[in-house]
Amino acid sequence: MDELRSHLSGSWQSGTGEPQILYNPATEEAVATCCATGLDLEAGLDFARREGGSALRKLSLAQRGQLLQTLASTIHEHREALIELAISNGGNTRSDAKFDIDGASATLSYYAGLAAAKGDAMVHEDGEMLQLGQSRRFVGRHAWLPRNGVAVLINAFNFPAWGFGEKAACALLAGMPIVVKPATSTACVAARLVEIAVDKMPAGTLSSVVGSAHVLPTLLGYQDVISFTGSSQTAGRLRALPQVASGAVRLNVEADSLNAAVLGPDIEAGSDTYNMFLRDVSREMTQKAGQKCTAIRRVFTSSAIRERVRDDLVERLGAVRVGNPAAAGVKMGPVATAQQRGDVLAGIEVLASQTRKVFGSEHAELVGTQDGKGYFVPITLLESDTPDVPGVHDDEVFGPVATLMGGVDDAATAGTWVAKGQGGLVCSIYTDDRSYAGAMLAEVGPHHGRVMFASTKIADQAPSPGTVLPSMNHGGPGRAGGGEELGGWYGTGLYAQRVAVQGDRGMLDAMLGKATS
Ligand code: NAP
Repeated sequence: MDELRSHLSGSWQSGTGEPQILYNPATEEAVATCCATGLDLEAGLDFARREGGSALRKLSLAQRGQLLQTLASTIHEHREALIELAISNGGNTRSDAKFDIDGASATLSYYAGLAAAKGDAMVHEDGEMLQLGQSRRFVGRHAWLPRNGVAVLINAFNFPAWGFGEKAACALLAGMPIVVKPATSTACVAARLVEIAVDKMPAGTLSSVVGSAHVLPTLLGYQDVISFTGSSQTAGRLRALPQVASGAVRLNVEADSLNAAVLGPDIEAGSDTYNMFLRDVSREMTQKAGQKCTAIRRVFTSSAIRERVRDDLVERLGAVRVGNPAAAGVKMGPVATAQQRGDVLAGIEVLASQTRKVFGSEHAELVGTQDGKGYFVPITLLESDTPDVPGVHDDEVFGPVATLMGGVDDAATAGTWVAKGQGGLVCSIYTDDRSYAGAMLAEVGPHHGRVMFASTKIADQAPSPGTVLPSMNHGGPGRAGGGEELGGWYGTGLYAQRVAVQGDRGMLDAMLGKATS
């Protein structure tokens, strides 16, 4: 069985405690072990700050971009092996695995392109030079300078590759060294990513901690950053740490979300926009077995069309073959862990007690599995005549589960119920009516980091709303954690200090083109 090691202080290291075991969620076979107990984390963090930080700060933005392109190309070269690991340790279908792994290389490439356009600039400048005095001599400009610490990238179990890629791209481009901390249960992919990439990076710029290491955030100081993706419970623990609560360590949180899809009252069954809506809801429910922070959990329609929507969704969901993702034809695999399976089944039970279950059975045929083995959860569609179902707006059931609710006949009603999710990552509105769209943007915009308007004109080209694009903001207020990631250059801001630089014009011109640490 593979032992996954950590890379700290420029070398491969094993922990000294009881190993943690990682499983294949389709067969329950053990696939790897890891252990972070006993690692000298403090020395590893210092090495990253000292060696990695100074190496990155000597590079121009374009040179940092070349490192990102190297990472992207390396991931692409090892794509097949990474897909196999995602299938065996993540329960991913091949298509799920590609979504994660290609998403990582595409995001890194996108940021490499942004950086290349900066030529030999050392500093990312923000806005125009502003005249501050009576004459043109006294001026000011904002500049983003890399924080002189280390960025600890703590990721959730569902996107071991993309989670790495999106955080690494922004941190390295901003000029901060990274320590990658993947979720333990699915760490095989991220551990392998570090293995294939680390020798291509300057010493100290890329480190990893594989295995549970809850002490890690307590070793950080005011120039360091925690970029966290995971549950709101863990986020709450991180926020309460004195190192964070005192305001010293910068923390970005990407957490839960009860993403809503709203079918506009103008949309007729059978239209392009209607078909797009059906495609997106069924894809978001089943891709990665519903273990996506951006998956659609709440589906709102008018009363007039709800029954038709239910029947059409049930037909689509019934065509999804569930089973061992290594078997041919399987379109949805298991959830990632036994714990996850227990949580999802318990969540379904609560929701089902407040709604009607219209699709989903424990006894559906599983393809390519051994009797009783694997952390499988049935695809589950629940239905309610009205949106007045408290649990649906309160609890994220992180699996292939959504609730269809009728009685949402106008923008004001839709806005009220969407907002009950208390802050989300993405809301998708299916409409061809521009005045309804405008009303919905005003209703749901303040509650989300991203709003997707799906209409006939983009039906043939827009990906489903769960697809996060590097050029657009990812994050959301409230329940979603209040964080922001990606969105082009905005995503680098977490890892940099925005400095208002004031002085004489000649001095600023000379400095800002060339500044190094
Ligand atoms: P989790 O249990 O909160 O774990 C997330 C990460 O935090 C893991 O790497 C975990 O390490 C680490 N961790 C746990 N407790 C910690 C502590 N006390 N100190 C430091 N690190 C700690 O979440 P998960 O089960 O992996 O992920 C599922 C959740 O993530 C869902 O709620 C989902 O909505 C959310 N999510 C959000 C986004 C987004 O972008 N908003 C994306 C994906 C997932 P160990 O595994 O070693 O314990």
